[in-house]
Amino acid sequence: MNPLVVLGATGSIGRQALEVADRLSVPVAALAARRGSEQLAEIARAWPEARVGVTSPSADERDRLSAEFGARVTFGPDVLTELAAMSATTVLNGVVGAVGLSPSVAALEASNRLALANKESLVAGGPVVLEALAKGDGEIMPVDSEHSALFQCLVGESTASVSRVILTASGGPFLGWPSDDLANVTPAQALRHPTWEMGPRITIDSATLMNKGFEVIEAHYLFGLPYEKIDVTVHPQSIVHAIVEFHDGSLKAHLGEPDMRVPIQYSITYPERHEGPLSPFDLIDLDLRFDRPDRHRYPCLMMAYEAGKEGGSAPTVLNAADEVAVEAFLRGRLGFMGVAEVIERTLGAVDHRELGSVEEVLELDREARQVAGGFLGRAC
Ligand code: MG
Repeated sequence: MNPLVVLGATGSIGRQALEVADRLSVPVAALAARRGSEQLAEIARAWPEARVGVTSPSADERDRLSAEFGARVTFGPDVLTELAAMSATTVLNGVVGAVGLSPSVAALEASNRLALANKESLVAGGPVVLEALAKGDGEIMPVDSEHSALFQCLVGESTASVSRVILTASGGPFLGWPSDDLANVTPAQALRHPTWEMGPRITIDSATLMNKGFEVIEAHYLFGLPYEKIDVTVHPQSIVHAIVEFHDGSLKAHLGEPDMRVPIQYSITYPERHEGPLSPFDLIDLDLRFDRPDRHRYPCLMMAYEAGKEGGSAPTVLNAADEVAVEAFLRGRLGFMGVAEVIERTLGAVDHRELGSVEEVLELDREARQVAGGFLGRAC
């Protein structure tokens, strides 16, 4: 197994990746985080061979880390791409936000394995990432549970024989609530995810099903499938992560406990499998439900399909507007139903264009954020 470069080392995915690395004795070549927190210093002590990168340290953090780790640690916005380009590594990209796009591209151009957990890379910059993949000798291993599940169902298969893939969604904490009550949902209620433990934005995105919409777009780029062949079903138990239906009528499903360490580990060990962290799965009395998502209840999912089909700048705008709207909701500046409204208005207000480079994607991301910000507090 290649040494690991863990970007977003203090985040939920990064910490679990380091746990996997520790258990499987995979060397860690580099670690990076946004801030030079004590938590990062602790991780750096635990992995004394690893280079350490910090993108936005405070002056104080910079002094303390330099004093303790010397030349091992480097600072600044470019450290992510520098570390991602370290040759013959597996780059686990677990950073949050559009800042994850450049290191994804750098990893692929350096012919590394990209273990991809950063959603924005494919949602905001899909065509740019695919171009980098084609240029180098790298590969993308999905880390997200649904895409890892699809990848595993598709090992040894040809996508030409796939009639459709089905991504499962837990439905979030408001499944079964009357639609009228959704307008008064509070951030605290929305942050209680029933099956997965995740960061605040992705938890809200799960409640609106925008997260599933992003996953549809990611599946389109990862597996080269048209949107007509990508379905979503609500499956509250989160045991079946994805299903592939083939032309011959066979279906393959991927089942397991909802635990991110499993797909993280597979993205590192593929094509091998190593002993995992979970006890044997108990099938007895398992009760699995699958429902069709209600279009009216989940407008974000429908907007994601439309933006994906439109392509070009639309998915980038979708992602940027969602981030602004979710942040506003979490700060109490926007109602739950206002999230979809701000996104819809932003999609309508930003002109369509094709995106050919990381810079163009990031420029549009900034522009769409500004436009979305302008809609906050205005009749939403
Ligand atoms: Mg997921």
